Amino acid sequence: MLVTTSRMDGITIDLAARTARVGAGVRGGALVQAAAANGLAPLTGSSPEVGVVSYHLGGGLGILGRSLGWAVDHVRAIDVVTADGVVRRATATTEPDLFWALRGGGRGTLGVVVALEIGLYPITRLYGGGMHFAADTVSRVLTTWAKWTRTVPEEMASSVLLMNMPDFPALPEALRGRLVAHARFTFTGSAADGARLLEPFRALGPVTDTVTEMPYAQVGTIHAEPTTPVPFYARNRVLQTLAEGTVHELLGHAGPDAGAPYLVELRHTGGALGRPGTEPSALGRRDGQFVLYAGAAAGPDELPALHADYDRLFGAVSPWSTGGVCVSFLSGPDVTATELASGYRPEDWHRLAAIKHAVDPDDVFCVHHGRP
Ligand SMILES: Cc1cc2nc3c(=O)[nH]c(=O)nc-3n(C[C@H](O)[C@H](O)[C@H](O)COP(=O)(O)OP(=O)(O)OC[C@H]3O[C@@H](n4cnc5c(N)ncnc54)[C@H](O)[C@@H]3O)c2cc1C
Repeated sequence: MLVTTSRMDGITIDLAARTARVGAGVRGGALVQAAAANGLAPLTGSSPEVGVVSYHLGGGLGILGRSLGWAVDHVRAIDVVTADGVVRRATATTEPDLFWALRGGGRGTLGVVVALEIGLYPITRLYGGGMHFAADTVSRVLTTWAKWTRTVPEEMASSVLLMNMPDFPALPEALRGRLVAHARFTFTGSAADGARLLEPFRALGPVTDTVTEMPYAQVGTIHAEPTTPVPFYARNRVLQTLAEGTVHELLGHAGPDAGAPYLVELRHTGGALGRPGTEPSALGRRDGQFVLYAGAAAGPDELPALHADYDRLFGAVSPWSTGGVCVSFLSGPDVTATELASGYRPEDWHRLAAIKHAVDPDDVFCVHHGRP
């Protein structure tokens, strides 16, 4: 059965409490706009198209994460319909096990979440945007970024995407039909400090540079991710460090001369994302400094070869991996149970299984994990 939540699109903002009550059908962009109209910001992720509920249930690695932590740490209450058909209100004091489990471990398996109540923050502006770099600069961008991320304050969030650009006449010649790097930056400190921090990248000669002072309401433009649905197959691993060797392996497998059929994205984590939240949740595993994500649009016939490519990429960077995944970025039928479990601490995984068994003993909400 497919449950469609798109009409559950209510957003109610409590200005005094700085919270929002968000219906199950609300997407990140709508929440950002509603909060911005009140001088506030939610801890949403890079894409305005992503559903707020599912994003939070997986953990939620947000743009403000390095300074404010995982989105899931800022959930105050969850209204959920469990397998027995009862609507329950899960908070730290009512249904505490369900509240713990849903936050980080609740995507699709524990019930249908009807609404979330989440904290908002008085952030109205930022210094951010993206820079594209041509193929011959990609290696230096990654090397510079790897060193730079060790030094930046928690108010600076960044990521680098390596992807093949289409051969569109509208694109700058240096980017057309080539693999390029897109570096994205979000800084909640002053524009002057942000510009100083970004000097090493501007010195590399970006082909495009949209980094500027902007209202927080425009945060969804920074990553410029696709808005149309595609059959996308992805895998990720958390990395402890981005050493010279990691960059070398990445370039070998997914750099300008590799001809990889997938894109690769690295997100800088750490900071508050590495610290426990004030209210414990299933998302207890918080080690690592980067998430390495690879993804591609593929048809069924292309999947075996794509998985073999992913095996090679992730095998090559395994010396620098924590052995875990970022649960938030897992999606689709190809996720294995072993892969999912590696996103959790063993004790959290066992507690999650026990809570699942208690609230849904007949596995009404069954999510099949297993790669063919
Ligand atoms: C372009 C893009 C950018 C992304 N950026 C980020 C990011 O910056 N940070 C991050 O952490 N993640 C990010 N993600 C991952 C994203 O958080 C997950 O893919 C998320 O599951 C998407 O949720 P959805 O509701 O949009 O999709 P859906 O396909 O509608 O939902 C995915 C699954 O979540 C479960 N689910 C959905 N709604 C409910 C509900 N009401 N109750 C219970 N279970 C439910 C279901 O199992 C469903 O199959 C990104 C994904 C994309 C596609």
